[in-house]
Amino acid sequence: MEDKERLMQEVIRQVLARLGTEGANGAGTSQFGFDSVDAAVAACEKAQKSWQWDFSLAQRIRIVNGLREDLLQEDCIEEVSRLALEETGMGRLDDKILKKRLAVEKTPGPEYFTTRAISGDHGLVLEELSPFGVIASIAPSTNPVASVYNNTICMIAGGNGVVFAPHPGAVKCSLRAVELVTRSLAKQGAPEGLVVTLTQPSMENLKALMTHRTVRLIAATGGPGVVKAALSSGKPAIGAGPGNPPVVVDETADIRKAALDVILGCSFDNNLPCIAEKELFVVNCVADELKKHMLDQGAFELKEPDLVKRLQELVLNPDHSVNRSMVGKSAPYYLEKLGIKVGANVRVVLVETTEDHPFVQEELLMPILPLVRVADFDEALCASLRAEHGFRHSAAIHSTNITHMSRMARAMETTIFTKNAPSFASIGVGGDCPTAFTIATTTGQGPTTPLSFCRTRRCVLAGAFRII
Ligand code: NAD
Repeated sequence: MEDKERLMQEVIRQVLARLGTEGANGAGTSQFGFDSVDAAVAACEKAQKSWQWDFSLAQRIRIVNGLREDLLQEDCIEEVSRLALEETGMGRLDDKILKKRLAVEKTPGPEYFTTRAISGDHGLVLEELSPFGVIASIAPSTNPVASVYNNTICMIAGGNGVVFAPHPGAVKCSLRAVELVTRSLAKQGAPEGLVVTLTQPSMENLKALMTHRTVRLIAATGGPGVVKAALSSGKPAIGAGPGNPPVVVDETADIRKAALDVILGCSFDNNLPCIAEKELFVVNCVADELKKHMLDQGAFELKEPDLVKRLQELVLNPDHSVNRSMVGKSAPYYLEKLGIKVGANVRVVLVETTEDHPFVQEELLMPILPLVRVADFDEALCASLRAEHGFRHSAAIHSTNITHMSRMARAMETTIFTKNAPSFASIGVGGDCPTAFTIATTTGQGPTTPLSFCRTRRCVLAGAFRII
């Protein structure tokens, strides 16, 4: 296409977008929600082709920056955060707001790409990252909106389009998040249909989406079921599965700081993030001191065996699987169910127990933190390896012993390993790293970036373009 013609089309597109494109989902917004899988994929395919071929890198950067600006509007962030809290009944409003900000501000965009060039006696080789095309993104109920924002930016940054499949327990907030994305993209002049969502999150629709011939990549974020389904679909898939992150505190740690970091990490959004501290192994000689500092800084210890048993019956089913209706509540909520009233400053229910307790071995996704005393660092490491169950997801340590830190980091082989900070430092809160809400543990892409959703293509020119 000639440059002039392309410019003209861009101007027309932007003028139409500013006038407001009316779609089936309401005035001023292009259509973003589809009952039919075929219709959603068709709309996305058309838009993605245009996005890939008609939009320059500079245009993509401008549009993604505009999207960030719109999504960061205070009222939008608060609205979707409240909606997610009300609909799912899980998490904390302040942390939900923080998660959305994080996803919008710290997810890398189109500027993240670089070209690899190899020149030699035989000429020049270029390797560039190219979009897959239409991506099916399946989001969890625990981070529904943050996943939509994070995945949208990552995926469109690389030239892809996205069809979201919301979790059945988080349809309203997910649809609203996609609507806000779509509205902003339309305003910036992006092609209509680039980011869409299914409105009916049935298993039948999910299967139809995952096996749709036009879908080129699946990004599945959730428990083992969805990751297995994605990997069995016959398509390339990014599997971001469950974890059960242990945290170790050894005798060399700054104990007071470790206590606060563990409480903050474990209680972040009521423990919903997959990276959040789920069980604590502490070296015996500092266990009492650690507990004292934890109790001073937001933990409540549940001591009586009868109450611990009642808590277990409340949050776990008889087969020790998690009672989903109890996921992501606040510490005062669980305690109140046991007849104990505490203030909102209590963020974590601490239960001292043994390694074999289901609170240690199950991924609770609740601010209920089992504490297990161990004789020394070696015992802590062995117990951490067992409790992590080989998910290779996340783990943490508080220590000033470099050998301990290195040994644990090496032995755990987790995708994320955090030292001397709350686990959320690993997704950019008070840390320098980019944010990811799809942490591809199972398939190995790690904390995802725009690069994770693209494929490498090589172009070889023989005999020329070597300049030295
Ligand atoms: P979930 O597995 O219940 O749901 C995730 C999505 O998968 C939903 O859209 C659901 O409809 C779909 N799904 C569930 N079972 C399926 C199946 N058998 N076939 C096809 N689709 C299926 O997850 P959840 O409870 O909402 O989220 C919590 C889980 O997700 C935890 O285990 C947590 O560790 C994990 N998680 C992982 C990451 C990560 O980046 N690795 C991020 C967030 C959450």
